[in-house]
Amino acid sequence: MAYDVVFIPGDGIGPEVADAARRCLEATGVTFSWREHIAGEAAIAKFGTPLPDETLKAIRETGVAIKGPITTPIGKGFRSVNVALRKQLDLFACVRPCRSYEGVRAPVKDVNLLIVRENTEDLYAGIEFASGSKEASQLIRQIKQWTDQPLREESGISIKPISAAATERIVRFAFEYAIRHGRKKVTAIHKANIMKHTDGLFMETSRRVAKGYEGRVAFEDRLVDATCMQLVLRPQEFDVLVLPNLYGDILSDLCAGLVGGLGVAPGANIGERTAVFEAVHGSAPKYQGKNKVNPAAMILSGMMMLEHLGERDAARRLEQAVRAVLQEGRHVTYDLKPTRDDPTAVGTREMADAIIATMKRGQTPSDKKGSDPF
Ligand code: NAD
Repeated sequence: MAYDVVFIPGDGIGPEVADAARRCLEATGVTFSWREHIAGEAAIAKFGTPLPDETLKAIRETGVAIKGPITTPIGKGFRSVNVALRKQLDLFACVRPCRSYEGVRAPVKDVNLLIVRENTEDLYAGIEFASGSKEASQLIRQIKQWTDQPLREESGISIKPISAAATERIVRFAFEYAIRHGRKKVTAIHKANIMKHTDGLFMETSRRVAKGYEGRVAFEDRLVDATCMQLVLRPQEFDVLVLPNLYGDILSDLCAGLVGGLGVAPGANIGERTAVFEAVHGSAPKYQGKNKVNPAAMILSGMMMLEHLGERDAARRLEQAVRAVLQEGRHVTYDLKPTRDDPTAVGTREMADAIIATMKRGQTPSDKKGSDPF
């Protein structure tokens, strides 16, 4: 039976990397019935909105989508499609694996961790009041009545809501993901010593949920600042990290840097009923149409989709092929070569071809690490 999947090419380099991922997914032997829909610049041109209803409807129907990156137009009044998708489909969990690959230059070795970021609350909830606005002034007056905090009159204000319900949902998700993927430890990250009623609630709720998993998955919680330092010094100590929205965003980038950057950073946004798979990187407009950029992050996002669909064997074969090509370092894009102008670099299409050929030969990387995808 073919899987019904919504395919969104995206903007900039999106169509090139999304096509590479689609070809690799098809080469696994799993069959798909692609439903191609547009979002972003092409959708603005056709429908006057970057996220047309028919695209959203299709994702709701299939429950699964793979999407190329989308440009957020600056100063044209359009909000980010990515934020809108998360909100409209309640994709509450952002999952970003960070794994060291032989052949990818990175500041540290042997990293294999997974970031689970809460996607709906925190300072990213979008509740903000501009400096000098009526609402901000009113809020400041009210806060001064309730507390003796010295708030400056012209302050801008962002609200940080964190609830037990959303925290419980994301921490439970992190534990269940850890169990399904054979991971051993979940670390909850917070700053509960300073923000007692938001991060404190996140910490207490995490500890309570963790009790239900005692004996199956280890648990600890740590302060976000100390964690940043430990991630740089000893990233191997971490397994699954669960974080509120803002810290999740920042630590995702930090960890992507630890394993060599955006070219190999896949991701997924997952809700109760729907999941959207996409690379961490953006649409890199300057490389549009040049058949130049690295398709690995998008292909690995496709691999996460295979896992989500229960196609673990295909996911494993695809991940091994990506790893073998990276390790060999011959058929790889410019960003993975020792210098950016290396004449032996191949294009996006050719790197995908090499991954497909490697998978068809059944070639595996010489190291046996990480045979279980993410
Ligand atoms: P970007 O990730 O698009 O590009 C930054 C730089 O990273 C590029 O110039 C390039 O040098 C490098 N890069 C990115 N992807 C690469 C790849 N696959 N292979 C090799 N090198 C790669 O970030 P940006 O320039 O800040 O954003 C461009 C646009 O993308 C913006 O409109 C932004 O809003 C959007 N964006 C979209 C998403 C998404 O759709 N999920 C995510 C991030 C940014």
